[in-house]
Amino acid sequence: MIIKSVNLETVCGITSKLPDNTLPEVAFAGKSNVGKSSLINALMNRKSYARISAQPGKTQTINYYNINEELYYVDLPGYGFAKVTQSVKEKWGHMIENYLQTSKQLKMVFLLIDIRHKPSKNDVMMYDWILHNGYRPVIIATKLDKLKRSQVPKHLKEIRTELQMDKETPIFPFSALSKQGRDEIWDFIESMVLQ
Ligand code: GDP
Repeated sequence: MIIKSVNLETVCGITSKLPDNTLPEVAFAGKSNVGKSSLINALMNRKSYARISAQPGKTQTINYYNINEELYYVDLPGYGFAKVTQSVKEKWGHMIENYLQTSKQLKMVFLLIDIRHKPSKNDVMMYDWILHNGYRPVIIATKLDKLKRSQVPKHLKEIRTELQMDKETPIFPFSALSKQGRDEIWDFIESMVLQ
């Protein structure tokens, strides 16, 4: 995908009404610190347009990035940060649930999993939640550069098993350092959303 323009158009907090967009939306979910901002920056060809978490778990907003006036990347708040209060966790749940249930333009949800670790309970819950709302979650396995190449297949298999993924659902291994995987993700978005 050629990135011609990027604009953080809407930031929604817990009380905001979600925008009535007419362009297709692609959403990104994952636990805080998984590398979501780094991925979104890479997919926008920007170094630091999406925030890179200095204080993980603090920002509870849904951010809409208008890409090329063609589609939106929707950055969902990261979950699973241990130090936030129960009420913040509940707010997070309501926001995501509301988004998944009401967005009319949502075409696809990417769920990010750190390739080094077995998916957490929250990851499994998020995966099931996405499915339950009628979307097919597509996995991006982040921080690929942190593993030796020989270890990668075993880790991808573990993610598939833990999430009980069907064979057709793709997993994209990705590194924000080397940008490995970026072209494949762009091609996938284009083929699924922009046709
Ligand atoms: P977020 O909380 O999910 O938005 O995660 P960030 O994008 O802020 O990344 C969390 C931390 O992981 C930061 O220190 C990043 O520099 C680091 N990080 C993110 N992606 C990668 C990656 O692909 N490789 C490596 N080595 N580090 C990464």
